[in-house]
Amino acid sequence: MADRPPSTLRLRIDQKALAANWQALDRLSGRAGTGAAVKADCYGLGVDRCVPILKKAGCEAFFVAHWQEVEGVARHVDPGSIAVLHGCTNEAEAAYAIATGAKPVINSLEQARRWTEADGGPCHLMIDTGINRLGIATHECSDPAIAALDIDVLMSHLACADEDSAMNVRQLQRFRDIIPAISHRTTSLANSAGIALGSKYHFDLTRPGLSLYGGVPRTELSEVIAQVAYPQAAIIQRRSIRAGEKVGYNATFTAQHDMEIGVVSIGYADGFLRANKQEGAAFRDGQTRLPLLGKISMDMVVVDCSEAPNLREGDWLDIPYLLPEKSGATGLSQYELLTVLGDRFA
Ligand SMILES: *Cc1c(COP(=O)(O)O)cnc(C)c1O
Repeated sequence: MADRPPSTLRLRIDQKALAANWQALDRLSGRAGTGAAVKADCYGLGVDRCVPILKKAGCEAFFVAHWQEVEGVARHVDPGSIAVLHGCTNEAEAAYAIATGAKPVINSLEQARRWTEADGGPCHLMIDTGINRLGIATHECSDPAIAALDIDVLMSHLACADEDSAMNVRQLQRFRDIIPAISHRTTSLANSAGIALGSKYHFDLTRPGLSLYGGVPRTELSEVIAQVAYPQAAIIQRRSIRAGEKVGYNATFTAQHDMEIGVVSIGYADGFLRANKQEGAAFRDGQTRLPLLGKISMDMVVVDCSEAPNLREGDWLDIPYLLPEKSGATGLSQYELLTVLGDRFA
């Protein structure tokens, strides 16, 4: 095949901001080490771009959800530093763990027995302290299947770290109560938001994800976390429309006067969902605001170019992507806003 022409859709990753975010979270983690959740292709921003930066910044512990994600991360880091949060749910996964050296986070007594039968060696263990998602129940901690494990990181996961909730204290207390009952090397509780809850929550290792990539789950982090993902889309057609003309599917927009409009190369297939509101849909040079007209299509959206009449086909527009702000405007979570970004971005 011929070389592909340049894309009309791109995602700029601010590598300095990514490294600085990890370092800021590491500072906030105090004496605890700081890992990185790199699941879901680094929350949509790309393992190949992000993992080498996190490693260079000093990160030595990487968390993915699926075994399918191990290979991509292991291209950049020691497989032994990769933990798989879903654990080993069958023999094939246990065998794959042993073959690759990535470690399962054991989540149930059944997984524990499977791992011991496979003679898997060191692993991690998740304790459920109230989120009721993955992890062994506190009353299962004394089971012989757990005693048989060689546990590296003993961990739990907070349900409400982004809120000021009594649940945080409750989970902290349950986790503390369990720690002496299980033999292990190190402990870990906090995700991004948990880091901001203070040193009691830090234990030996923190596991931020969202805030590495620019998410601000608690206001304490708003001064220290910088935007990392900057989507940009090119104008692929300019047109002039007359008063009374309509724009887009279902003709939901009607021009009140003659207008200059631009068709922009981003749509809901790229993660620019219809939850995006009319205002501030795109910016020129991060400044001139170009309101969105009509419905967002799969591959494009139409903007009002009245404020920027010199814009041409091929010119780039910035898609505002300050996560806390955009989350407030769209009703989508900051996590969704990152992971929804499609794979057509260059
Ligand atoms: C995803 C995940 C994290 C990271 O959480 P953030 O809120 O993105 O910082 C940490 N621990 C576990 C178990 C996770 O599933």
